[in-house]
Amino acid sequence: SCEASDVAEAIRAAADVIARHRVELTDLDRPIGDADHGENMNRGFTAVLATLDTTAPTTPAGLLKVVATTLISKVGGAAGPLYGTAFLRAATSLGQESRLDSEGLVTALRAGLEGVVARGRAEVGDATMVDALSPAVEAAEAAKGEGIAAQLAAAADAADEGAQSTVPLVARKGRASYLGERSIGHLDPGARSTALLLRAFADAAR
Ligand code: ADP
Ligand code: MG
Ligand code: MG
Repeated sequence: SCEASDVAEAIRAAADVIARHRVELTDLDRPIGDADHGENMNRGFTAVLATLDTTAPTTPAGLLKVVATTLISKVGGAAGPLYGTAFLRAATSLGQESRLDSEGLVTALRAGLEGVVARGRAEVGDATMVDALSPAVEAAEAAKGEGIAAQLAAAADAADEGAQSTVPLVARKGRASYLGERSIGHLDPGARSTALLLRAFADAAR
């Protein structure tokens, strides 16, 4: 299991990975969207870092809630409310526990996925972040006996594969769906950012 300071470290790692992949995420959003996903996510996570410097929640849930409220107010677009809801549901699922264990991790990831689906109504195969997050939840569940680090590594691998699976798909939600068949052949930017976030969490947990 891990404690609040480990969760804070993982959030900082996530902010760092988003900053380093800002241009890539925006480039992915150019042919099928409005070329702002990297900027949106980086604005949000930069604000998260600033908030964490001034407020220090002492539980995993408290930290995830800071991420949620900051992303909701700063990211904008489609991704802001979706990621915000995901982090908020994940936070709520954890209660006021001071530690995060393997079971809690699966519950939090699943709650996050359910939040995204409740808000965006996308299913697997619609070429969205759900295509990365859904297999990640299943992988984390399947690796439950192996500890948090192994679960997150498995989740990140599954999310990478899930993100790649969006390439041949027709987008059915969000801006990319306006292109219809012309959305085929592109990696979904939100699926890519989900895979990057999970990789950052996995690397921080090693
Ligand atoms: P916007 O499209 O408003 O500019 P972003 O570019 O920040 O917002 O985010 C786009 C990403 O949001 C997409 O790549 C996709 O993964 C995700 N997305 C959009 N609509 C939905 C939805 N209804 N359900 C799940 N994910 C969605
Ligand atoms: Mg966009
Ligand atoms: Mg936009």
